[in-house]
Amino acid sequence: MAKFDETPIIKDPARDGIVTAPELREHATAGVHCWPGKEKDFTAIGLPPERVANWQEKAIEKFGELLEKNKALRVYMDICVRCGACTDKCQFFLGTGDPQNFPVARAELMRKVYRRYFTPGGRAFPQLNDAADFDEEMLQKWYTYFYQCSECRRCSVFCPYGIDTAEITMAAREIMSSIGVATKYVTEVVAKVYETGNNLGIPSAAWKDNCEFLEEDVQEETGLPIRFPVDDEGADILLVPPSADNFANVDTMIAYGKLFHFLGIRWTTSTYCNEGGNFGLFLNYKNLKQVNKRIVDAARMLGVKTIIWGECGHAWRAAVLPPTLHGPMDMFDPPYPYHISQFVVDMMKKGAFEGKIDKSANDDLIVTYHDPCNTARAGQLLEEPREIIRAACNHFVEMPADTIREKTFCCGGGGGLLTDEIMPIRMAGGKPRAMAVKHVKANYLATICAICKAQLPEVMGYWDVPVQVGGVLQLLTNALKM
Ligand code: SF4
Ligand code: SF4
Repeated sequence: MAKFDETPIIKDPARDGIVTAPELREHATAGVHCWPGKEKDFTAIGLPPERVANWQEKAIEKFGELLEKNKALRVYMDICVRCGACTDKCQFFLGTGDPQNFPVARAELMRKVYRRYFTPGGRAFPQLNDAADFDEEMLQKWYTYFYQCSECRRCSVFCPYGIDTAEITMAAREIMSSIGVATKYVTEVVAKVYETGNNLGIPSAAWKDNCEFLEEDVQEETGLPIRFPVDDEGADILLVPPSADNFANVDTMIAYGKLFHFLGIRWTTSTYCNEGGNFGLFLNYKNLKQVNKRIVDAARMLGVKTIIWGECGHAWRAAVLPPTLHGPMDMFDPPYPYHISQFVVDMMKKGAFEGKIDKSANDDLIVTYHDPCNTARAGQLLEEPREIIRAACNHFVEMPADTIREKTFCCGGGGGLLTDEIMPIRMAGGKPRAMAVKHVKANYLATICAICKAQLPEVMGYWDVPVQVGGVLQLLTNALKM
């Protein structure tokens, strides 16, 4: 990391001032917490409405259940040799300087409890075996630090044993949720999906209205009858965007419409499931599965041939999980998750854009690409976004090699951390990405994730990196001769 600006000064927007790294460290350890969830949301998503009375016993029982079901978790508990190769690989450590954010230190919070209850040595001689009770103090540490991990998996790339701390974080959150301990942000979002079909809680009528407004606006701008269809039974394609594309990242939504119009394809969104994002991933497997299933159910209801996932990182990570976590897709073409970037590259290979791209339309942009953790490390979408950018832009620069592709840094807001009460952690976690963007002096930071698109403008502003953040597809449609 020596090549980057490592100034220890951290501005804290919550305090409208400047604090130093040691002070921020104190912040992190002294309790910058996500707010706890509300009873109504816990009930709506099948969690105990409050912390259960015998929580320690129940948590250990759940821990044992996970160790039985998930053999990798047991291996991760046993094989760490504390070599330290992962220590400086987590953006939350690099940003905060808090050693408890070393991936190995985070995982040790769980390993101490594992040794205490699941190993003979830890049961008999806890102090000699670095084992610890799962008491109130430990639970508080779990709640703080397993919600200062964005489940990004960067550390696992550097671990010689392939230990995946994201899996450890996911198990810890699963255990906590089983006893009625989870954050407001994550539980509220999952509850909104069951109520409205999307993470933002947008009612169906508002979704439809917005699509109509978009049609009017785009017609006015382009003179073209570009449609944003909703619940169109028998359409060829169901697009599952992150719902933020319809309200916040409107340029991305417009790009979907322009693309399908250009290709002459009948497509639709669904009001039953107008969300690709899946916050179940940040909570527990039961909700992960239920939220994923909605996508396949919506596609069956509308009778589409193909499901295409939009520009969303964790939607894609949830999509590429084993089919048992979203249901068989044999009736679709292709019969496996298909990303908008893959679709565009396939169309490019078929010559659909031959002679129809004017790259000079993007000539005022120096574009760099931020690999979202979930598309790069968890979803293997490394080349497709780059192919699209190269096809649409004359000026594309890559950030340093140790900050891109599978070594990409998290934006600092993934994994259920995109919530304002932990703004100092988010800004600190986003620092390594900001420094890498600064290094290449790009003026357009392209990415294919709605969370990154929400987090990165704040991070770039915070670290004084003047850059516009936007999608990849819109670069292509901006250059398309429609
Ligand atoms: S790199 Fe792997 S083995 Fe080494 S301390 Fe980190 S988790 Fe443990
Ligand atoms: S998974 Fe990502 S956020 Fe979590 S400890 Fe590893 S590097 Fe840090």
